[in-house]
Amino acid sequence: MTAPPIEDGAVLVDTNGRIAAVGPHRNIGTPPGAETFEFPDAMLVPGLINCHTHLELTHLAGQNAEPEFARWIRRVRELKEATRPDAFYAAAVAGVKDGWARGVTCVAETGSTGAVVRALHHLGGRGIVYQEVFGPDPATLDESMRDLENAVGQLRRLATAQLRVGVSPHAPYTVSAPLYEAVAGFARRERLPVAVHLAESREEAEFVRDATGPFADAWRARGITALPHRCTPVEYLRRLGLLNAGTLCIHCVQTDQRDVAMLAAAGAAIAHCPRSNRAHGHGAAPLGAFRTAGLRVGLGTDSVVSVGDLDLWAEADAASLDWNDALRMLTIEGARALGWEKEIGSLEVGKAADVAVLTAQPPNRPTALLTVLAGRVVHALDSAP
Ligand SMILES: [Zn+2]
Repeated sequence: MTAPPIEDGAVLVDTNGRIAAVGPHRNIGTPPGAETFEFPDAMLVPGLINCHTHLELTHLAGQNAEPEFARWIRRVRELKEATRPDAFYAAAVAGVKDGWARGVTCVAETGSTGAVVRALHHLGGRGIVYQEVFGPDPATLDESMRDLENAVGQLRRLATAQLRVGVSPHAPYTVSAPLYEAVAGFARRERLPVAVHLAESREEAEFVRDATGPFADAWRARGITALPHRCTPVEYLRRLGLLNAGTLCIHCVQTDQRDVAMLAAAGAAIAHCPRSNRAHGHGAAPLGAFRTAGLRVGLGTDSVVSVGDLDLWAEADAASLDWNDALRMLTIEGARALGWEKEIGSLEVGKAADVAVLTAQPPNRPTALLTVLAGRVVHALDSAP
């Protein structure tokens, strides 16, 4: 990803799970006792990175056919309320393992149950998990912050060098302005990474600008005041102090040129989820404009409730990326979007040995023959040599 491809290449991994050497096979020795894997007709690439998922919802694939977005969101909440805690954990484990079977070694998860932190911790996976917080009613601000701080405090005990915990104030239509500001302050004090669902639907843009539409109706039905902010969702979050260097902005479909410039000036990163945006009828995010503006952009599947599976190659197709561009976005660019490029995203000496061995030559969809995470084999296809 950061140097030309190597024919008959090899990667040597040390006992600490780091890359000790990369180069032509003939130049890389095999130290005594080293375990070797050989794949004569395959590509050895950095482990893939899914920049936006909700793996705690993996059990809900195909269970929400609601076409209208505000109702779809409400239905997800009902489905979550009907899920037992152990089912979230099982869903998280299934989601992490599904990724490994596809060569995905790192996920950026947003969730509210903590299940994915526990699953990644116990399985030895890699990821950033942004703990979600909700609270449209300013009257519940203290309660929301207390719950968030407790949850983050507990989940952080499970954090490791390959498992980070952050925060995610969910979206403009589920979070009050004071709650956004409180979360921004908490993230600053505790140096927590932040992810936000932002500028996703037209209904959200209408809600922020005019305080009308289905989200505003839902707030008023609950007795919560919705104010017109007369601006775009991106501008709204900037005013509230949420648009900072490293803030992961998920979707960003409803964005104009000013928004893109604002995101770039803030140093924010984007999780681009083209299939989810299409499935919900939100439209397409301006990927070309993001990249021209120098924004860091990774690809994300979003949840299986939206898109049915966790196939990042399908996202690359939906984004109309050619093979090489897709591979870069799924590796080094994804790592940059998550601020993790010093550790993962390319096969370079000293980086973590997160490696995928993929079949198939372009334009065919690849299959993962072997997936290695920090030097440990986490997936091996039965038919692999
Ligand atoms: Zn999402």
